[in-house]
Amino acid sequence: MRKSLEETATYLTNHEEQSDQDIQEQIELLRNGSNYFNSLSWIDQNGVVRSLSPLSVGLKGEKITGVTKKVLDSRQATLTSPYIGPSGRLIVLMSQPLYDQNGTYRGMIGGTIYLQESNVLNDLLGNDIVEENGSYYYVVGPEGKLLFHPNRNRIGQEVTDNPIVQKLMEGESGKRKVTNTIGIPMLAAYSYVPKTGWGVVQQTPVSYIDELLTNNIQTLVLYILPPYFILLLLSILVARMLAKPFNDLANVVNKLASGQTAIVPRSQHWNREADLLTKSVRIAMSSMQESNNKLLQEATTDPLTEIPNRRKMNEVMDDWTRQGIAFSLLAIDIDHFKSINDTYAHQAGDEVLKHLASTLQSVLPEHGQCFRYGGEEFVVLLPHLSSKSAFGIAERIRVTVQNVRNPLGKTITVSIGVAEYPVHAQTAENLFRRADKALYQAKIEGRNRSTIWS
Ligand code: GH3
Ligand code: MG
Ligand code: MG
Repeated sequence: MRKSLEETATYLTNHEEQSDQDIQEQIELLRNGSNYFNSLSWIDQNGVVRSLSPLSVGLKGEKITGVTKKVLDSRQATLTSPYIGPSGRLIVLMSQPLYDQNGTYRGMIGGTIYLQESNVLNDLLGNDIVEENGSYYYVVGPEGKLLFHPNRNRIGQEVTDNPIVQKLMEGESGKRKVTNTIGIPMLAAYSYVPKTGWGVVQQTPVSYIDELLTNNIQTLVLYILPPYFILLLLSILVARMLAKPFNDLANVVNKLASGQTAIVPRSQHWNREADLLTKSVRIAMSSMQESNNKLLQEATTDPLTEIPNRRKMNEVMDDWTRQGIAFSLLAIDIDHFKSINDTYAHQAGDEVLKHLASTLQSVLPEHGQCFRYGGEEFVVLLPHLSSKSAFGIAERIRVTVQNVRNPLGKTITVSIGVAEYPVHAQTAENLFRRADKALYQAKIEGRNRSTIWS
């Protein structure tokens, strides 16, 4: 705006020959070409309005007074504060002094902005009405007077109480939260224009910004939630896949611990840790199983003769009675064994016991089993055999023992008691007692004989 005034003044200085009519045309051209000013005028050094655009303002030929006169007399480029101009409007005046080529003062070119009418500020800052969202601009002059405001009645008002205006008057720009004159919290951005000393302020209600943010956040959440849930689902799936081999392993170990049979999975697993752990558990389990078997073996085997012991015998008998398998039991006792010990020493006695155990095993029929019951007593179990058939076996045992060469080189004999399940007794315990009675009978009757319980 300033530049266009300057150029016009320079042009007029360089073309002194121009008539009033020419100058009038020049001024019309400037105003219509730019739309910067609501009115443009040439006022001569005496204060007479010589040219004016638009002519409708009606001041042509009149003499100006007041602020306008002061500006004229200052002979300087000026931008005024708002004041009531000669046409009775609230205006700001931008003036450019006019000299001829001899340097004689010829008045000024003055451009006005009608603050309360459609003007250049409206064009720059958009509509002077408040926007839908409640945001608006206002402009203050260097003395803190409103030059532009959506509320036209307030234009020209002094607003130096406003903290933003105070900042602007100090030449600062910035942003801050304020409450406007009607009590609405606002976010304001303000900018100081050094050339004019004006300040431009833009204010938007906090509530609108909040709403904007809320909407943005809602949209964001809407966009984020579906992928979030998909990710969550995927994570759960992957976690389950990862955990599965560990769960399976835990189940297997629990089963094994509670005495059930279970097999540690053999397949390779894609999860290296699971694979390693599975392998370790498999190794641990098989070594445990091995020592378990060994313990079991030791617990049910007689260490001297290396044949099953009385514990194993009870197990087998319980098994058979539970399954209802008929069988016969031979209770075998070495005759006068004490004297063998006494005569040939205990170690020799042991040898005789070992020898007897192997003799028994060699004589037994296919499904027969022999046990060391304790001391020099042995038991033979014969499944599916009646006491009569068992008696035959007992006799075979007795005769073999008597005839076979033993480590002492001396004849040893055995007495045998025979009883049959379930004919002679309905429990394993009673059956053994009956066979033992029969054995006792054999001893009484002279030893080296077999007797069926009766
Ligand atoms: P009977 O004809 O009445 O059966 O007479 P016995 O001497 O065989 O019977 P007794 O019950 O009087 O003696 C059994 C002996 O067996 C006593 C014990 O020293 C011996 N004995 C028991 N266990 C063992 C063992 O493991 N090794 C040896 N060497 N002797 C044993
Ligand atoms: Mg005995
Ligand atoms: Mg004996």
